[in-house]
Amino acid sequence: MEMQKVMLIVDDVEINRIILSQFFKNQYLILEAVNGHEALEVIEKQAVDIILLDLVMPEMNGFELLSILKKNEKYAEIPVIATTARNEGDNEIKAVEMGAADFITKPYNPTIVRCRVQNVMARIENEWWRFEQTAKDRQIVEMRRYIELDSLTGIYNSAAFFEKAASLLQDDPEIPYNIVYLDISSFKIINGLFHIETGNLILKTAAVYLKAITEGNGICGRMEADHFALCLPTDRFDIKPFVEGLDNAVQSLGICHNILFYVGVYPVDNVFLPVDQMCDRAHMALNMIKGHYTVRYAYYDDVMRERVLDEQMILREMEYALEEKQFCVYLQPIYSINENCPVSAEALVRWIHPSQGLISPGRFIPVFERNGFIVRLDRFVWETVCVFLAEQRKKTDRVIPVSVNVSRLNFYNSDFYDTITGLLEKYALEPWMLKLEITESAYMDNPRQIISQIKRFQEYGMQILMDDFGNGYSSLNMLRNMPVDILKVAMNFVQDIEHSDRAAGILKNVVKMARDLDMSVVIEGVETRPQVDFLQGIGCDNIQGFYFSKPLPMEKFEELIAGKDRATGK
Ligand code: C2E
Ligand code: CA
Repeated sequence: MEMQKVMLIVDDVEINRIILSQFFKNQYLILEAVNGHEALEVIEKQAVDIILLDLVMPEMNGFELLSILKKNEKYAEIPVIATTARNEGDNEIKAVEMGAADFITKPYNPTIVRCRVQNVMARIENEWWRFEQTAKDRQIVEMRRYIELDSLTGIYNSAAFFEKAASLLQDDPEIPYNIVYLDISSFKIINGLFHIETGNLILKTAAVYLKAITEGNGICGRMEADHFALCLPTDRFDIKPFVEGLDNAVQSLGICHNILFYVGVYPVDNVFLPVDQMCDRAHMALNMIKGHYTVRYAYYDDVMRERVLDEQMILREMEYALEEKQFCVYLQPIYSINENCPVSAEALVRWIHPSQGLISPGRFIPVFERNGFIVRLDRFVWETVCVFLAEQRKKTDRVIPVSVNVSRLNFYNSDFYDTITGLLEKYALEPWMLKLEITESAYMDNPRQIISQIKRFQEYGMQILMDDFGNGYSSLNMLRNMPVDILKVAMNFVQDIEHSDRAAGILKNVVKMARDLDMSVVIEGVETRPQVDFLQGIGCDNIQGFYFSKPLPMEKFEELIAGKDRATGK
């Protein structure tokens, strides 16, 4: 129930008080006072909603009371309507100037008096409502800020960015937009090297720059940690000056570390795609160049899109494919030129996909290297090879050793050594039958740790090949200290010799130096007779390449070596 409002009538003339009371007694609780002093006593005791105040009174007149009320915070908001006699024109103006809400003139006209009081009350209520609304609005704004803004940088957080960008893009789908994704190189290192405050300062500086760039054009947000995103009209985004400006902003902080921003751009081609997926695409473009020192930005394009879809298929199906034996192992013979027959082989995995047919490892190995599945796949390949070797051993007295590829991730598993040696024991194989191919670059990951593990295999009696030699950074000199039995020279060397004397010279030296270091050499990727002749000429015997044979399914490989055995009379 609404509380009854209270009206105070202040007038020294009783009849005036009675008349006014009559007008309002049904709507208001009426209180009366005969002068200013009494009025103050009344409002001390009782809250009042409106005062009708006679200006001319003995003791304390209306002006004095009005002045006290307006100066007192407690009473200043109470609306006062001055009551005056017809001949007191100046008083009316003076009263209004002193803060009276309105005035009424005696003799009272009931309609006018009621109207004025009603108007004043409505105005006050309206003001109150507006005041409350503003307070509520302020609260809402505060809450929204809290919900939408990133607490460190003050720009949108990811959820707000996704929402705002979606409405920006859909507002006018005709305007072409870019979604831009940014990441700072080795931010964790920066946080580790310096104090966390330094990291925060970099993030805040970047945010200030991004905000300035997007002001009035688009929006920006912090996605997570050191990742930011922008949504900007294409014609307002010039990537080169954008990256330079960002670099300058951060470098102006004077932090002694090379802080590089990498930028991926997705030119929006479908405004209804969820913005988080747009960001994923821009992020993907960024991942293509992350780690490069010279290339700092990349655009998402159709090739990337295909790659992403392909990668998604690979990730979706890999487990099932392994269970269903869709992966199979091919063997590529390694020939001895002098003996003119295979002396060993390399195991190369293939994915025989039910609908896509044969998928080459170049497509799926990099994906598995990233998500770690390569460790399981490698183990599957090793065991398949061991089974093959065990069968060979049963069937023939001449077992050809097979080398298997070892992803560098295996070195981070504590059971790597036991797995390999366990397989050899399980299938009663001798250590020389299985060789391990380790890429040159893996030796560089954590040299001491990797080298000591490799030595254990050598001590066990296995041979180690350094794969892809020449594509990494190890110098011939460094090889002296590396546990390597066989050097596999990267394919591009032999493929270059026909049109580059330099490549031919290098190859010649590599073969000579390997011989000096007591290492064997296998040259990969030999495709032509002139290449074979050249290699024979420089004293290189072992060759792997399409010239002799492509990688073969195991049965075909078996047929090949059986035929060669017959040919050589074995
Ligand atoms: P890789 O170890 O350098 O293997 C040699 C690659 O060269 C193989 O490609 C082989 O088919 C190809 N090749 C051999 N001779 C020639 C030639 O004369 N000309 C040309 N153009 N290519 C030749 P593949 O089978 O596609 O394998 C690619 C890469 O995938 C391998 O390079 C290896 O790094 C990786 N890989 C294959 N199987 C496995 C595996 O079981 N585990 C691991 N971790 N990686 C594997
Ligand atoms: Ca290899």
